[in-house]
Amino acid sequence: MAFIITSEDYTKYLVAADKKIVDNKDYVTELDLATGDGDHWSNMNMGFKKLVENADKLAALNISDEFKEIGKIMMSVIGGSSGVLYGSAYIGAAKAAKGMHSLDRDSLCTVLKAMLDAIMERGQAKPGFKTMIDSLYPAVVEYEKCIDENVSDEVLCERVKNAAIDGANSTAGMEAIKGRATYQTDKGIGHLDPGAVTMSYQISVLMDTAKEKILE
Ligand code: ADP
Ligand code: MG
Repeated sequence: MAFIITSEDYTKYLVAADKKIVDNKDYVTELDLATGDGDHWSNMNMGFKKLVENADKLAALNISDEFKEIGKIMMSVIGGSSGVLYGSAYIGAAKAAKGMHSLDRDSLCTVLKAMLDAIMERGQAKPGFKTMIDSLYPAVVEYEKCIDENVSDEVLCERVKNAAIDGANSTAGMEAIKGRATYQTDKGIGHLDPGAVTMSYQISVLMDTAKEKILE
């Protein structure tokens, strides 16, 4: 059994991701107060609120145009580094999904890889720098492994989700090389990176959305 993600499904994912972010307001704010300036939750929340407001419009677009529109919204609404980085990620995703009507398991991997490449390029950061990349990168690596090993879509969804969460957790031991945590005397060691945590929320909810589609 395989999953297919349409523009409508992706919009449903955005609504569910918004909820996940809302539910973790205090936790994410605390994380950014420890290593940054405390605005990461409100930045992400503002972006997702605007996406949810535009849900009907987004669901009516083809998947590539939907990503382009999400990128534009995130870039204009989210302040701070994350706005530019997520904006670039979705513009990269739109290019990767050009001509596609929906995403299957291979094209979802292509899209996530395009997002990763765009974030790394825009922010000039690499895995291990204690950023959102430390959740997305291991998720993409695990996704590619699952495709190589030809595991079921159900197993793939679980493994990618867990890789994203483990990746975010691994940032506790990292010293920041990019972003505001570099200004702290301890370079954020001992604290999770807020951007990696919200990235893991998004990947978790996305893989849950994909998993639900297998059952249909
Ligand atoms: P700001 O740091 O401008 O206040 P946010 O608080 O919204 O913006 O986002 C902070 C998050 O952005 C960090 O936790 C980190 O994950 C991510 N980040 C910061 N700089 C970079 C970068 N150069 N590359 C990738 N991610 C980054
Ligand atoms: Mg901040």
